[in-house]
Amino acid sequence: MLNINHYVNGQHTQTSQRTQTIYDPATGEARGQVSLASQDEVASAITAAKTAFQTWSQVTPLNRARVLFKFKALVEQHVDKLAELITLEHGKVLDDAKGEITRGLEVVEFACGIPHLLKGEHTQQVGGGVDAWSVNQALGVVAGIAPFNFPVMVPMWMFPIAIACGNTFIMKPSEKDPSSVMFMAELLKQAGLPDGVFNVVNGDKEAVDALLTHPDIKAVSFVGSTPIAEYIYTTASAHGKRVQALGGAKNHMLLMPDADLDQAVNALMGAAYGSAGERCMAISVVLAVGDIGDKLVDKLLPQISALKVGSGITPEMDMGPLISAQHLAKVRDYVEVGINEGAKLVVDGRDISISDHQQGYFLGACLFDHVTPQMSIYQQEIFGPVLAIVRVDTYAEALALINQHEFGNGTAIFTQNGQAARHFCHHVEVGMVGVNVPIPVPMAFHSFGGWKRSLFGPLHMHGPDGVRFYTKRKAITARWPQAKADSNEPSAFIMPTMK
Ligand code: NAD
Repeated sequence: MLNINHYVNGQHTQTSQRTQTIYDPATGEARGQVSLASQDEVASAITAAKTAFQTWSQVTPLNRARVLFKFKALVEQHVDKLAELITLEHGKVLDDAKGEITRGLEVVEFACGIPHLLKGEHTQQVGGGVDAWSVNQALGVVAGIAPFNFPVMVPMWMFPIAIACGNTFIMKPSEKDPSSVMFMAELLKQAGLPDGVFNVVNGDKEAVDALLTHPDIKAVSFVGSTPIAEYIYTTASAHGKRVQALGGAKNHMLLMPDADLDQAVNALMGAAYGSAGERCMAISVVLAVGDIGDKLVDKLLPQISALKVGSGITPEMDMGPLISAQHLAKVRDYVEVGINEGAKLVVDGRDISISDHQQGYFLGACLFDHVTPQMSIYQQEIFGPVLAIVRVDTYAEALALINQHEFGNGTAIFTQNGQAARHFCHHVEVGMVGVNVPIPVPMAFHSFGGWKRSLFGPLHMHGPDGVRFYTKRKAITARWPQAKADSNEPSAFIMPTMK
């Protein structure tokens, strides 16, 4: 059985007083225990990170990047082990786990360019004999709090850029699948990262609250559900910290009558049911415009019945289990609610049975048709393999629905009409938009983030916003007076202006 504690100052720590069981969602069996950090345990990790900041912030950006280059090579060398850790605790299929690692590594690659990314601006001769420039300096100790659904990629949205900028880091992974972050901590040490620069505290609300209120934490990056994101944002902001808090989603695909339906359906299958729908960029609603709804259902049905559902470790599965027994029960309840609300359950995945994995948290793909915007299965994030089709008459009606929704993480339009696509990109109130691309997750050198109640705080994650988030800017104005000539200058009592 696993015994996962914390990782502080380059060492694994003792077990905490409180622990929680980690499960393998494919079997329903306990894999071990994870420690839940107390306030004091969090404080000692922060002390280690604060001490390490003194030296790490003075290491040259080039040498900080070199550690990340080595870390990238080590992750690639151990990709199979890392993917297996993800699958054993999260449940997603192994290839999907490897895909998540690749997307995370792209942020490491971006952070390897930190010598270039940290460059400031310089203006010579802003006034007579006066030069001005700006520099971007590290903040200090910063914290990251991650959700269960991307145990490697989401932490990698945060720590590579934070430490490349010269900060030291406290990671608080999801208590449901903490092993992959603990393994990455060891790989960072092997890559030559000094002790105390990257620390892991495992835990629940107690550990999170300790991070949000500690005076030595300068910034908090959070990804998770909207109610917690809002709590993180308000609490950490009230304690004077910089915050970026990414929340939940309800991503719509707007399917125009002129779309290439085969292409759209192939894209939709992966976007709706990949990772059992437990992705913040999953498509959970299709707005079928005009008369395309019936054709859509006809094309989806054979693909849904061909889906291979089983343990993520078994090769060639399309979809693994949900994360926990509680979450499975919650998603099943939503299916019941949808039926009671009057939606038509076209495919019911609830009676699925996986031989050899009877205790796993499996749910087959579910498809609802004739969902209306008044229904809670339309309004709320379900975070499971449940796709809703809403039939609308016009493009304008579809656009209005997306814009009225409380979430604004991702969306996609499928069409062959460039004018409609262009109008959509311009007018849709959503942070990440795809045109014939179902999951428009920006590459690492752009920034990731939603709008409305999908993100609290001004800056998105990774890319240029990541560097801005983890640095503070200093503007310097300098002159070197010529000793004799300028020494008789009178004092000035008016607002200084450049001559
Ligand atoms: P969650 O909000 O339950 O947990 C996220 C983190 O917050 C965990 O580390 C957890 O320990 C901590 N936490 C939970 N309850 C807390 C509390 N009361 N006080 C303080 N901390 C608390 O989310 P989850 O179930 O792990 O992840 C799924 C959610 O994350 C979904 O809503 C999904 O849309 C969202 N998500 C969003 C994005 C994005 O980029 N917007 C990406 C991935 C996941």
